[in-house]
Amino acid sequence: MQYQSTRDKSIVTTSAEAIKMGISPDGGLFVPQEMPALSHDQILALAELNYNARAVEILKLFLTDFTSDEIKECVDKAYNKEKFETENIAPIYKLNNEVYFLELWHGPTCAFKDMALQILPHLLTKSLSKTGEDKEIVILVATSGDTGKAALEGFKNVEGTRIIVFYPDKGVSEIQKLQMITQEGNNVAVAAVEGNFDDTQNGVKAIFTDEAYKGLLKEKNYKFSSANSINWGRLVPQIIYYFSAYADLLKNEEITPEEKINVVVPTGNFGNILAAYYAKEMGLPIHKLICASNANNVLTEFINTGVYNRKRAFMTTTSPSMDILISSNLERLLFSITGQDCARLRHWMQELKDNGRYEIADVTKQKMKELFWAGYCDDEETFKTIKETAQNDSYVIDTHTAVGKNVYDQYVQETDDRTKTIIASTASPFKFTQSVITALMSEEVLQGKTEFELLEILSEKSGVRTPKSLSELDEKAILHTIQCHKEQMKQVVNNILDISVK
Ligand SMILES: *Cc1c(COP(=O)(O)O)cnc(C)c1O
Repeated sequence: MQYQSTRDKSIVTTSAEAIKMGISPDGGLFVPQEMPALSHDQILALAELNYNARAVEILKLFLTDFTSDEIKECVDKAYNKEKFETENIAPIYKLNNEVYFLELWHGPTCAFKDMALQILPHLLTKSLSKTGEDKEIVILVATSGDTGKAALEGFKNVEGTRIIVFYPDKGVSEIQKLQMITQEGNNVAVAAVEGNFDDTQNGVKAIFTDEAYKGLLKEKNYKFSSANSINWGRLVPQIIYYFSAYADLLKNEEITPEEKINVVVPTGNFGNILAAYYAKEMGLPIHKLICASNANNVLTEFINTGVYNRKRAFMTTTSPSMDILISSNLERLLFSITGQDCARLRHWMQELKDNGRYEIADVTKQKMKELFWAGYCDDEETFKTIKETAQNDSYVIDTHTAVGKNVYDQYVQETDDRTKTIIASTASPFKFTQSVITALMSEEVLQGKTEFELLEILSEKSGVRTPKSLSELDEKAILHTIQCHKEQMKQVVNNILDISVK
C-alpha cells in the first residue's frame, strides 16, 4: 500500500517514509491511497484473538512494507504487562445494556495517548532502518502536560533515539510536573521553560525551522523528528481498538454478528474519532460517529453547519486536552469524503490560514451529516455528568469522558436511537483528580490538601485503587532540574546532546 499527501496526488510514498517524515513536504497529511477492508468473517475471527494479535491483523493491512514479524515485534514491545495495568490493554466497561465505555487509559501515563505513543517509537525506528537512515533521532516536544509524559514513556530506552521535552514551568499541574521530572530512561531529558505554553511551543518551533542549526546537527549525526499527532504512525494504532472493542462485544455476546454500534469520541485534534471513521470505512459495522466537544465547540458548529471558523475566543476548560481550535486531522476526513479532491483541500486549508474560516460544499456537508452527529457541553454540565454517572451507575469518569457521556445523552434525547454504543474513555479519573473531586464532592475538599492526599480521597470515594504509576510518584527521585529562559532553549539542546558551539 502506498501513501499520498492530502493536498497532492503526485506525492506518493511508503508507510515507512510517511512515518519517518511525519508531515508531507507540501504541508498536507499522509493518507493511504485506498482503504483496506475486512470481511465479515475476518471481523468475527478477531473475537478469538487477544489484543496484540488483533493489532497485528489491522496493522499489516496498512504497513505493507513491514514484515509480519516486524509488526509483531513493535506490537509486543508496546502492549505488554510491564506497560499496561490490564491484560486486555483496552478493556470494555459495561455501564448498562446500551452503553459501554472503552477504557483507553490503562497505559503508563493513565491517558489514551499511550495507545499510540507506546508503539510509535518502535514503528519509527523500524521505519528509519528500512529507509537507510543512520543518524540518531532527536525527538523534541513542547508539552502542556499529557503529551510530553506519554512521549517520554514511549521513547524511553528506545535505541537510536533521544527525547527532549520542554514544559512551561507555570503551565502544568503538580502531578504532571512530577511525572516528568522523575522520568527514568537512558535517553531522556526534561527542561522547564520560564513562561507559558505558547512560549515553549514557539521555542521548539524556532529550533525545528532553523535550517543552519539542522545542518550543524547533521554534522554531529543527529536528526530532528517529532511525535506529533498528525504522524500516520500515531493514527494507525488507534484504529485497532475500535475493532478490538467490537470483537469483545461479539465475544461477550453483547451484540450479534453484523449488529451495528454507535461510537462516541471526546474530540480535540480529531485523531481519535478519525480512527473510528477509518474503522467504519474498513467494514466495521458502525451506525453513527458522535463527535463530542467542550466549550471550544468549533467542530460541533462545523459538523452542523459546514462552516469551520477558528476566529473565536479560546476557552480554558476542565477538559484541557480538548481545548483546541484547529483540529488538524479533519483534513484527512475531508480528503476522504470529497472523493480525494486535493485541489479543494488546498483551497480550504489556504482559506483557513488566510481568513481563519472556510465553508464546505453542500454535498460534502450532507455526507458528513450522514456519518456524524455532533454536540458539546460546558464545564458545569461536565461536572454534573460525572456526579450523575457516579450516583446512578457507581462508575467514576474523568472530565473528558464526561463530555462524551453528556453529548451521548443529548444524542439519545434528540434521536431516541437505542443502538448499542461505545463511548471512548480517554483518561483515568485519577489523572484529573481536582476536577473529579470537585464534581463528586465539592471544591472545599481540595483546600490545603496535597495532590497525593487527593488521590487517596478519590480512591476511597470511587472504590477504585489509585493507578500505581501515580501513587508511586512521591517516592521517586527527582532526576531533571534544568530551568531555562525561552531564549536559551537551543543552548539547552546543545548541552544535552553535548554539542559545543564556538
Ligand atoms: C488528546 C486527548 C483527547 C482528544 O483526542 P484527539 O485525538 O485530539 O481528538 C481527548 N481526551 C484526552 C484525555 C486526551 O488526552
